[in-house]
Amino acid sequence: MSKFKIVLDQEKCIGCNTCPLIDPDTFEIDTTIYKAKVKAQPQEISEKTKTAVSSCPVGAISIIEENN
Ligand code: SF4
Repeated sequence: MSKFKIVLDQEKCIGCNTCPLIDPDTFEIDTTIYKAKVKAQPQEISEKTKTAVSSCPVGAISIIEENN
């Protein structure tokens, strides 16, 4: 069975706020460092989540497949 996980590289994030605007259920800005973080791992990867991932201007977000 494979599972998907959202990984956000805060080293790359420039805090543009795009991903939380598109998918606020999955992403939020960590206001202590002004970088995005994963708020909650989604049960399924929705179109909204995919759009947020592809809209990141610095490619900081990836969807990785985990094989259990
Ligand atoms: S879209 Fe990318 S750069 Fe912008 S806040 Fe989200 S992770 Fe950071």
